[in-house]
Order: sequence, then structure tokens, then C-alpha cells
Amino acid sequence: MKITELLHNATDPQYSYEIIPPKRGGSANDLIEVVNGLIDLEPPYIDVTSHSAQVYYEEQAGGTWKRHVKRKRPGTLGMCAAIRGRFGIETVPHLLCYGFSREESEDALIELNYLGIQNVMALRGDDNGYKKPLINDRTRNEFASDLVKQISDMNQGRYLENLIDSSPSDFCVGVAGYPEKHFEAPNLTWDILNLKRKVETGAAYITTQMCFDNQQIIEFEKKCREVGITVPIIPGLKILTSKKQLMSLPKNFAVQIPEALAAEVESAKEGHVHEVGIEWAKKQSEELIEAGFQNIHFYLLMTSKHVRKVVGPLRKMA
Ligand code: FAD
Repeated sequence: MKITELLHNATDPQYSYEIIPPKRGGSANDLIEVVNGLIDLEPPYIDVTSHSAQVYYEEQAGGTWKRHVKRKRPGTLGMCAAIRGRFGIETVPHLLCYGFSREESEDALIELNYLGIQNVMALRGDDNGYKKPLINDRTRNEFASDLVKQISDMNQGRYLENLIDSSPSDFCVGVAGYPEKHFEAPNLTWDILNLKRKVETGAAYITTQMCFDNQQIIEFEKKCREVGITVPIIPGLKILTSKKQLMSLPKNFAVQIPEALAAEVESAKEGHVHEVGIEWAKKQSEELIEAGFQNIHFYLLMTSKHVRKVVGPLRKMA
């Protein structure tokens, strides 16, 4: 079922989750355990992230450097199919522009169609040094809106080549939004107008970057509505679990940690930071639902134990 249908049909607030495929060569068992821990929370769907190839250099004898290209976490499509097959939960594979040619994206979409997976999240990805060297005559989508356009074209039976049998696909496409603006955008309005372009090209819903400040999420939604974006906006939340995240999350995701939260984390005893994170996320969720948001998306690390303490009580209250 499409995410938009799942959300539309729901009578209570819905909580979805985002997980990361195992590292290259790792086992899927740990991730399956995480999903196992979410089952009784009845997730409407689970997102599985995608990872573009990374470039690294190895010093050779004689002082030269050899360039390697490696995808650290392959397996997004396989994990989606495994979770859907085993647990009957809808999954949303993330597809990226960077690190993939348009032909590879089309192949991935055809495979998803065969697997019966109808939902995808279209993202640009970040430059891991792979951006420049395009493979001969292959092409790459530059912005997420280009990938959305490619998927919308497929939904109308327009593939990259003219095919004899070009049955249209029927994908529901999600895209990313940034309550604190994307780090490359000169300002929030500019970024929101680019977000609008993704919606006009065919995106059916928006999931936001993690944000710890509800006021920013509410303002972001208001601004989106003002420019005419009408699709569902799903706030993304993350539960803080360690002091080092006070530095790593702003650095890696260009988000701010509100002063009050940072102060609570700082004064928490080692080993108790997750309690602060759980309380903050619970309060954030309650306020967002009160403000009219019907769906909340949680970014998980390799465990369901913290989010269970947030979503379990919220579901009981509903
Ligand atoms: P875009 O929408 O293409 O925007 C990128 C930047 O370009 C923005 O500043 C935008 O304003 C600007 N822009 C857009 N269109 C144009 C245009 N036509 N002309 C000029 N400027 C333009 N990363 C991963 O690698 N794997 C994942 O699985 C993953 N999942 C994510 C899930 C969510 C919900 C979110 C919020 C992010 C995720 N990311 C993931 C991170 C994402 O790939 C990065 O934030 C990336 O830098 C931007 O991706 P985007 O899809 O928002 O890009």
C-alpha cells in the first residue's frame, strides 16, 4: 500500500521508523532484531537508508596513491524485501542521485516494482568524492527533483529508452525537507521553493530532517503551506542517547540542539543521557500531535529499546 494511503486511512497518530542497512559483509540479523522490537508498536512503514559509494585512497610503494571506490552499506533493496516478506510491514527504500547513474536508478526501480514495493524516498545524497567522475556515457541525476522526475516519468510509462513493453510503474515518492534549511541553501525560503519543485514534480509526501525544536517544525510547515505545498509533512525526530551527539549531530546533519536540551544532556550522569533524550522526544511528540501532526518519523540507531519508551506510552494514551 502507498504511504499516502496508509496515512490517510489511519485514525490514530502514526509512528514510522528509519533504519540503516548493515555494513558491507555484516549480518542482517541485528537489523531484523531491531524490527522485531518494533512489531508490537505496529509501524505503518519502515524506511531503509541508502549509502552512496565512498572514495578512499591507499598509499602505494613509491609514494603514489591508489583510488578505491566502495559502497560501505549495500543492501537497501534486499533489506526492504526481507522486512516486507518476513513481517508484512511496508518498507520505503531510499534512492540516491549521487553515486548512481540514471540507468542504475531505473534498474533499481524496476526491481522494486517486481518485489511489489510501491514506495520510495528520492534523495540527492552527499558528495563523498564520487560526484565528479561520471562513468563514460552514463548520466546522473543532479538534484532530488531530477530523480523524482525520473520516477514520475516511469509512472507514466516513460523509461530511459523507448521500450516495446513499457508498463507504467505506480510509485509513491517521498522527499526530504529541512526545518532548519538544508546546509547548502542560502536561506529557508529558497530551500522551501526547491522543496516545492520536488512536490510539483511528483513527490507525494515530505519527511523532515531530524529537528529538536518544535517551534522550527511548526514554522517550517506554515511556510510550506504559504507557498502552496499541500502534501503531508512528517516531522523527523531523533532520541539523544550520548553526550558526544551534542557535537556529532550538528556536524553531520547541520541541525541545532536547543540550549535547554544541551544543558540537560550536559548535566546528566554518564549512562543516563538516553533518559533525557527519551523525555525530550516524548514531549516533542505530544506537542506535535497537539499541534495537528498525525505522523512522526523516528531515526533509529541499531536498537528499538529507546524508541519503545517514547512510542509505547504515546500509543497507550491515544
Ligand atoms: P535536494 O532536494 O536536491 O536539495 C539539495 C540542495 O540543493 C538544497 O540546498 C536545495 O535547496 C538545493 N536545490 C534543490 N534543487 C535545486 C535546483 N534545481 N537548483 C539549485 N539548487 C537546488 N542521505 C543519504 O546518503 N542516504 C539516505 O538514505 C538519506 N536519507 C535521508 C532521509 C531524510 C528524511 C533526510 C531529511 C535526509 C536524508 N539523507 C540521506 C540526507 C540527504 O541526502 C542530504 O541532506 C543531501 O545533502 C540533500 O538531499 P535532498 O534530497 O534534500 O537534496
